Amino acid sequence: MENSPFKKILFTIIIAVLVPVLSYTAFQFFQTNKNEELIKSIYDRQLNTILFSVNQHCWDILNSWIAEIRTIIDTGVLQRQNPSGYPEELATFTRNNPTVSGAFINWTPSHTSLYMDFQSGVQPPRVLRFRYENEINHLISESSQHIDRMIRRAKEGYIKPHIIPWSTGRQELMILVFPVIRHKSLTMPVLAGIMIDSEEYVSEVVARKFSSMNDDIFSFAVQDRENGQVLYATEQDEEVKDYEKSEELWILPNLDLKIKLSGTTLKEISRDKTTTNLIFLLVSNLVFITGILYLLRNVSQEMTLSRMKTAFVANVSHELRTPLALIRMYAETLEMNRVRSDDKRNQYYRTIMSESTRLTQLINNILDFSKIESRKKEYQLAPESLRHLIEQTLEMYQFHLDQKDFQLALDLQSDLPDIGVDSEAITQSLVNLIDNAIKNSPNEKFIRIQLYRENGHQVIAITDKGVGIPESEQKKIFEKFYRIESGLVHNTKGSGLGLSLVKHIMQIHGGSVSVKSKVDHGSTFYLKFPTKKSGQYRN
Ligand code: ADP
Repeated sequence: MENSPFKKILFTIIIAVLVPVLSYTAFQFFQTNKNEELIKSIYDRQLNTILFSVNQHCWDILNSWIAEIRTIIDTGVLQRQNPSGYPEELATFTRNNPTVSGAFINWTPSHTSLYMDFQSGVQPPRVLRFRYENEINHLISESSQHIDRMIRRAKEGYIKPHIIPWSTGRQELMILVFPVIRHKSLTMPVLAGIMIDSEEYVSEVVARKFSSMNDDIFSFAVQDRENGQVLYATEQDEEVKDYEKSEELWILPNLDLKIKLSGTTLKEISRDKTTTNLIFLLVSNLVFITGILYLLRNVSQEMTLSRMKTAFVANVSHELRTPLALIRMYAETLEMNRVRSDDKRNQYYRTIMSESTRLTQLINNILDFSKIESRKKEYQLAPESLRHLIEQTLEMYQFHLDQKDFQLALDLQSDLPDIGVDSEAITQSLVNLIDNAIKNSPNEKFIRIQLYRENGHQVIAITDKGVGIPESEQKKIFEKFYRIESGLVHNTKGSGLGLSLVKHIMQIHGGSVSVKSKVDHGSTFYLKFPTKKSGQYRN
C-alpha cells in the first residue's frame, strides 16, 4: 500500500516518457538507415552522371573527328597528294588534334593512305609509311568479319568504331576503324581509321574532362581491364579496387573509368554517420535514463520524508499530550489543596517541573529544527568550559535520573581549557543524548559521561547499556525524522529530530557526532570539539 504512489509515478513515467522516448529512438535508428540509403542512392546517381558525362564527352570528340574525316573523304580532296605521297588533309587533321597520333583512309582493301605524326614537324620516312600502310591493310583484312558487321550497322545509322590494337614497334596504339558511307548505293564504304595512344588520350581527354567537373570531391582513375595497368589516377597511392563505381570507356572498351569520393567512400561515410548517430542516441538515452533514475530516487526520498513527517506529527502530538495531562492533573490536585504531606506535594511539584522541562525540550527541538530548515537559526560561540556545561545539564536532569533509578558515572577531566561554543545549543545536544540514553535503556539503567582530550579535540562520550543500534541504522539515525522502526521504538516516544539537531549543532562548531553501538549491549555517542573557534555563526 505504502508504495502505491511510487508505483503510480513509475508507471506514469514509463507510459508518458520512457515508451515515447524509446520508440523515438527506435524510429530514429531505422530512419537513419533509410536516410543513409537515400543519400547513398543520390550519391550513386551523381557518380553515374559524372561517368556518363565523361563518356559522352569522349564520344562527342570522336564524332567530331569522324565528321572531319568524312568531310575530307566527301570533298575528294585526297586526290591532292603532297610530294611525300601522303594526303595533306590527313596531316592537317592529325596536327590539329594533338591526341590523335595518326589517321588513315583505306580506299580499297589494298589501298591505304596514311598519315602518322611521328614527331611534331618531322615527316615520316617514306619507306616506313609504306610498311605501316601494308600492316594496316593486313590488320583490316584480318578483322574483316568484325568490320563487315560494323558496316552493316553503319548502314542502319549506328556507328561504333572497331578497335584494333597495333604496335608500331615504337608505340602501342589503338586504331579506331570506322566506315564512311558515301552513297547508300555503293556496296563498299570507305574505311577510315584514327590512331590514338591510350595513355595520352586518357590524360589529355578523359582526365581533363573529369577535372573540369570535379572540385576535389571525387577521386578518379582509368584502368586497363585486361592487364590491370592504371593509366591515370587522381590519387596515386589509393588502391584502385577501393573505387566505388566503375564503367567502361565507350570508345575504348578495354578501359574502365573508376570513381569514388576523395579520401573516403560512401560506405565509410555512411558507416561513420550511423555510428555517430547511434552513439548520440545511446548517450542521450543514458542521460535520460540517469535523469529518470535520479528523479525516482528523489521522489522516493521525498515520499519517505513525507511519511516520516506524518509519523512525526503523530509522535509529537502524543509527546505533548502525556506531559500536559500529567502537569494539569498534578496542578489541579495541588490547587484544590488535596495533598496532605509535604513530601507528596514536593513530589508533585518536581513532576510538574520535570514534565515541563521535557515539554520545553521537545518544543525547543521543534523550534530549532524549523529555524534551521528556514536558515534563521543563529549561534553565538563564546569561550566556555565543557565540564561546566555537562555539570549544569546534569543538575537539571538529576531528578529525572533519580526518579528512574539510573546509575550515573561521571569521568570529567578537569584541566581542559575553555573552548568557543554556543552554550545553549551544546546543552540541548547533551539533553538530547542523555534523554535518548534514558529512553533506550529499559533494563540496565546506567549512564556514563566522560570528558577527555584526544588528538587536539575535546570529546564528550555518553554511554548507556541499553538496547543498542543495529549497524545498518547507525548512519540513518542522524537524518531528520528518522526513527528506528522496530523493537523498542514502538514504546519509546520521540520526534526523530534529536540526533539530526545534534549533528547540525556539531557541524556548526566545526566538530562531529558519532556513535559506537552493539545491539543489546548499549551505545556510546561521541561529541568531538575542535579546540579553537569563537564568534557568531549562522547556519
Ligand atoms: P527520537 O526522538 O526518536 O529519539 P532521535 O533523532 O533522537 O529521535 O533518535 C533517532 C533514533 O535513534 C531513535 O528513534 C532511536 O531508535 C535511536 N537512538 C538514539 N539514541 C539511542 C540510544 N542511546 N540507544 C539506542 N537507540 C538510540
